[in-house]
Amino acid sequence: MYRKETKFIVIHHDAIHDNSFNHVPIFEIYKSHLPKYGTFAYHYYVTKAGKLYQLHEDNELTYHCKGINSSSISLCLQGNFDKEYLSSKQYNSLIRTLILLKRKYPNAIIIGHRDARNTNCPGKNINVEELKKTVNNFHILRNKF
Ligand SMILES: [Zn+2]
Repeated sequence: MYRKETKFIVIHHDAIHDNSFNHVPIFEIYKSHLPKYGTFAYHYYVTKAGKLYQLHEDNELTYHCKGINSSSISLCLQGNFDKEYLSSKQYNSLIRTLILLKRKYPNAIIIGHRDARNTNCPGKNINVEELKKTVNNFHILRNKF
């Protein structure tokens, strides 16, 4: 199944582990998503160490945010950001990934899961407005000299 369009880039957190810095719960996420969705719910996953995983092709339809699944791409952060904060490695990787996604989908709007549904996701310590500003302030200078 393929998505129709990319209007939104939706940020999530997995909220599975609080302090497991070295543990990448990819398989736990998979196990929890499997009965409900048959596969991973997210397109991208950024670990606490800043490692980026792609779990689906961009154009695949996934089930991460009811109501806008067919018009959004999803990125999940490892951690529970109601309780903890982004490390600089994870923050930098998140920003880089969002910049790349914005280059692919210039008209897509970055939102938190909570902006579309009644949930805390991606956690109160994730400032989506600040992320948006940082990403939107990234400009590539070309053909300027
Ligand atoms: Zn979410």
